[in-house]
Amino acid sequence: MHVDHIIVGQGLCGTWLSYYLQKENKSFVVIDDNRDGTPSKIAAGIINPVTGRRMVETWMIDELLPFVWHAYSEIGYVLDIQAISQKNIIDFFPSPQMLDSFRKRVEEGCQYLHPFPEQNQFNHLFNYDFGCGEIRPVYTAQTEILLPAWRQQLKTNTHLLEEEFDSVFLSVSDDKISYKEITAKKIIFCDGAGGFDNPYFKMLPFAPNKGEVLMAEIPELPDHTIYKKGMLLAPLAEKNLFWFGSSYEWDFTDTGPTKKFRDATGQILKSWLKLPFKIADHKAGVRPATLERRPFVGFHPLYKNVGILNGMGTKGCSLAPYFANQLAGHLIFDSPIQAEADVKRFHKILTRA
Ligand SMILES: Cc1cc2nc3c(=O)[nH]c(=O)nc-3n(C[C@H](O)[C@H](O)[C@H](O)COP(=O)(O)OP(=O)(O)OC[C@H]3O[C@@H](n4cnc5c(N)ncnc54)[C@H](O)[C@@H]3O)c2cc1C
Repeated sequence: MHVDHIIVGQGLCGTWLSYYLQKENKSFVVIDDNRDGTPSKIAAGIINPVTGRRMVETWMIDELLPFVWHAYSEIGYVLDIQAISQKNIIDFFPSPQMLDSFRKRVEEGCQYLHPFPEQNQFNHLFNYDFGCGEIRPVYTAQTEILLPAWRQQLKTNTHLLEEEFDSVFLSVSDDKISYKEITAKKIIFCDGAGGFDNPYFKMLPFAPNKGEVLMAEIPELPDHTIYKKGMLLAPLAEKNLFWFGSSYEWDFTDTGPTKKFRDATGQILKSWLKLPFKIADHKAGVRPATLERRPFVGFHPLYKNVGILNGMGTKGCSLAPYFANQLAGHLIFDSPIQAEADVKRFHKILTRA
């Protein structure tokens, strides 16, 4: 079989890259082993315009918000699914300091933070002592619907090889890529945490970050909004099911779910929520984060036909479609990749023997 491109991985990065290549009638095959617990499978899908305790605007958010709304709506239309929705965040301040911080950012003119007039509206649902504000607009990418739907489309079009990619079978020469019985012009690694051991890109400054999350059944909680008090409580596509998390761990030995997280986080939910709930599931994944919090996009300086789309960190739902589109544009029209994301910035590291 000969194709234009081999894509390794069908998380958010591989999904979006294959989508944009298909749109331009390029031929490709996606190789994905369908493993459990990948970040794309356990993410809440939240596209939050502010970040951190100081509630600063996230990188490139003014440009990303309209882009992702359009991108997810478009792929949703193609697949006949709802791939994105707007669910704003009600932010319950966990301390007087956080209330002050929020007020200060509103005074500074942050366009995404809004005072919430009905301070007592949630009294019957939650315990909160320091009031609440609203973060708006906030989008939710329905990754739990999108990923299987796109996978099915890949299968139907015989664009998917469901197996583990093993670089032992990969041969790279100046004008050709061969992998088992497939030949291609280029190969692009969208392998998420697999990138930490990827022979071509493992020297990049990845900073693996573990996240754990609980899924809770809360039948009486309205699901038209996301709730936040330190952690996020976000409605999932399945009725009555909410996502509660998550942790951010830089230093870990065990990549799986831990009893410590389950117990502590269950307690946090119990003391915040006034409604009955049941923990339905508990998951953990490793985010492909990077030391300087910017993605890795583009081609290897020595192996010009070996590319990467990775390093989306905590923001894959917004960054993956945006940079997949940029990489597809680069592949097809030779358009530039944004300098802060272009893997060219690691020329020295990648060309070291
Ligand atoms: C708990 C948690 C919550 C999160 N919440 C959010 C959120 O609300 N909003 C947000 O924007 N981001 C969130 N993120 C981050 C987001 O999930 C990631 O940035 C994004 O999913 C990364 O996508 P990816 O495609 O690069 O990697 P992955 O999701 O890891 O996908 C890689 C794919 O490649 C496959 N693969 C890897 N190696 C091989 C191989 N050798 N052979 C075959 N297949 C292979 C894997 O099976 C997988 O399918 C969250 C992450 C976690 C862990």
